[in-house]
Amino acid sequence: MRKFIAAFQPRLFLSASFFLLAMGSCHPCFAQLANHSEPVHPGADTFYLLRPDRVFDGTQFHPGWQVLVHNRLIEAVGPSASIIPPAGAIVLDLKGMTLLPGLIEGHSHLFLHPYNETSWDDQVLKESRAERLARATVHAGKTLLAGFTTTRDLGTEGAGYDDVGLKEAIEKGIIPGPHMIVATRAIVATGSYGPKVLSYDLETIHGAAEADGMDALIKEVRTQIGKGADLIKIYADYRWGLDQQAAPTFTVDELKKVVEVAGSSGRPVVVHASTAEGMRRAIQAGVTTIEHGDGGTPAIFAAMKEKGIALCPTLAAGDAYEQYRGWRKGIDPEPLRLKKKRDNFREALASGVTICMGGDVGVYAHGDNAREMEVMADYGMKPLDVLRSATSVNADVFRIGDKVGRIKAGLLADLLVVEGDPSINISLVRKIKWVMKEGVIYQP
Ligand SMILES: [Zn+2]
Repeated sequence: MRKFIAAFQPRLFLSASFFLLAMGSCHPCFAQLANHSEPVHPGADTFYLLRPDRVFDGTQFHPGWQVLVHNRLIEAVGPSASIIPPAGAIVLDLKGMTLLPGLIEGHSHLFLHPYNETSWDDQVLKESRAERLARATVHAGKTLLAGFTTTRDLGTEGAGYDDVGLKEAIEKGIIPGPHMIVATRAIVATGSYGPKVLSYDLETIHGAAEADGMDALIKEVRTQIGKGADLIKIYADYRWGLDQQAAPTFTVDELKKVVEVAGSSGRPVVVHASTAEGMRRAIQAGVTTIEHGDGGTPAIFAAMKEKGIALCPTLAAGDAYEQYRGWRKGIDPEPLRLKKKRDNFREALASGVTICMGGDVGVYAHGDNAREMEVMADYGMKPLDVLRSATSVNADVFRIGDKVGRIKAGLLADLLVVEGDPSINISLVRKIKWVMKEGVIYQP
């Protein structure tokens, strides 16, 4: 049972009005809305004065700071003496708590759910589009309530352009969810991607859009842009080598063309690459982020740093996969694959390459997004740096730093209140008091 203090407001009212809305397993939620909600109308202008023990502004911690929110924006942040709230401001004392920017998930698949529930193949082949959208709707709410007010969703995996519609439904206030940066279908080389469990005689749903060669790639990139993609995601390698080993897919020239065509519309290119050669080609092509990066070496990470390409290591996905295969975390010795990933992450940290926080959530449960932050800390990243990755670093890499990712005057009032100090224990980002998105409070 979860409670949303959610906004169902026409755009005109911004955050001036909100409803207390109970949602959960109870059947007629619309009846609940009609019978039990308590609309509160503080007036045309709503000011919140937030008084936590400390503020993490996206970069540093500041004990004793306060934050003033005005409607959907942050009005002021600083030492308490410097902030003069207007009469009628709603004062929220947050004793013992930390106020942070709303977290940014760097790698989600809202249209997938954990593979130990249903395999990826079965999700893509057997679940209807309606079911997948229904699940994604639930996942969006869970993501927001977990403190993630923005997500970069990297491919619908067979659900077409439905991420665009989901994003629009959230923006219109129809359902609660994070701000979304969407990839739509993603692009793969013909023959490389799944599902592959059926006879090759059958033409079936594809997990992503197949395109090859300059003309087809140009057309596919432009098609996805036209359908609403905020970025282009392409697979530089996949498990299509002999013995199902990961092997490169596109040539450097193909990747370069995708970067050129996406870039001329102002869109970044995100590359799935787990082999060293896939990463090298992506670097040569000048992409914006590399996802996974398991094959990275110190030289490759140095090249990424030099070209300003960020790494999104998706550590939690590997951690989940191994457990689905039977590894009992904390009991059995760490599997070789995870040991390698741990070393690989340490090399990335040492290289100084920019590291995003993105876990490939969907492989594991939506709402459990903090898992990636915990594994990052476990693998050697300082909690403060993990918090930076999940806020200001992600915002800058995803080119949304002018809107979110920091507690700064003029940015959206996307905020998170947690108990204690997560720079000491990163798992405290799970101890959520409430989440604010554009000035509206949601309570888990
Ligand atoms: Zn992914």
